[in-house]
Amino acid sequence: MSTNPYPLGLRLDGRRVVVVGGGVVATRRVPALLDAGADVLLVAPELTPALRARADAGRLRWVPRRFEPDDLDGAWLVQVAIDDPVAAESVSAAAAERRIFCVRADDRTVATAWTPAVTRHGPVTVAVLGGGDPRRAMTVRDAIRDLLGARKGPLLTPAVEEGSLPNAGGRVALVGAGPGDPELITVKGRRLLTEADVVVADRLVPGLLLDELRPDVELVDASKIPYGPSRAQEEINRILVDRARSGALVVRLKGGDPYVFGRGGEELLACAAAGVPVTVVPGVTSSIAAPAAAGIPVTHRAVAHEFTVVSGHVAPDSPASLVRWEALAGLRGTLVILMGLKNLAAITATLIAHGRSPRTPAAVVQEATTGAQRVLRSTLGAVATDVLAADLRPPAVVVVGDVVHALDS
Ligand code: SAH
Repeated sequence: MSTNPYPLGLRLDGRRVVVVGGGVVATRRVPALLDAGADVLLVAPELTPALRARADAGRLRWVPRRFEPDDLDGAWLVQVAIDDPVAAESVSAAAAERRIFCVRADDRTVATAWTPAVTRHGPVTVAVLGGGDPRRAMTVRDAIRDLLGARKGPLLTPAVEEGSLPNAGGRVALVGAGPGDPELITVKGRRLLTEADVVVADRLVPGLLLDELRPDVELVDASKIPYGPSRAQEEINRILVDRARSGALVVRLKGGDPYVFGRGGEELLACAAAGVPVTVVPGVTSSIAAPAAAGIPVTHRAVAHEFTVVSGHVAPDSPASLVRWEALAGLRGTLVILMGLKNLAAITATLIAHGRSPRTPAAVVQEATTGAQRVLRSTLGAVATDVLAADLRPPAVVVVGDVVHALDS
């Protein structure tokens, strides 16, 4: 008797797959089936909340009872995701009778099909079977994933992003690098960094991320571009477009999230106007992460049902201000101020003048999520003076509201 499996890639789009069981195993298996387009029929008296949400959203059909053999009518594949061996065996028997392959979570030795350990890279799917040992399969899969993750090239690039583009496959990715800790970049952002030919980085991006770039990557330090701020932005736009047109994958790396006071929108428009395709990869924004790093949740049950993020770089009384500070003073939720240190005295005075209590708790978090993080706790009335006394410097986030003490014990 041979124990050698015969590997296949099942094309499940629109085809019925029956999953028996609604617990953790099913919760782990169902997403890949849905991703493959399978018509999933889930048979289980109860579902985990995650599966329930998918059923409620109409992504799969749920039959809320125990398995009956007729459930397999019209199915191409069945996944048994229950641990009761007697019930699992009855599913196996019904499947065998109908010549339907049956995956068994409880006992792989009696299954007629095995699910491999998988890693996906653009159009490439690598599936590993470990000769009966799932841990061996996962170890090999991890090694292959690391190998492919460190590699770039057209073979592993999704087909939709290639083809008839006027710029020979060049493109720009606007990537949020997160607030400071290099581990707070997204998985997608990090992958794009490993694939990049050119990286255009801001002052605020975590230095350690740049340290990891391949030596042949061209690194453009956007903060070192001379001329005034608006000329510099034009110059950045020009670099993004030029490099992409010559076929490069250009990663525009920005602190936090690219669309939160990051001028990401302008760069997207400049690329679009030049016909350069752009991907936007959101990032963990300092407006939420900096308070969190200081133990401050921006919302908290029974304390704050809103948070407002505002830039303080224009003084409240300036004709150029787009912020209605007097309206913000009337809110009772959390106010998060970015780029606010220089104008902090004027900002806090304006909020107080329009009715926010000077006793409202306030905090300032400098260089959040880095080794140099500093936190100051104060009140709306005193925070501007306290910041000067403590010599806090940008980059810093100011948080105003009762949430500042929400987690104090
Ligand atoms: N796109 C960024 C914000 C850019 S504006 C984001 O989503 O986070 C720059 C301002 O962000 C700084 O002046 C400061 O107010 C805030 N900031 C960015 N990183 C920070 C950090 N690590 N700690 C505190 N504030 C930070």
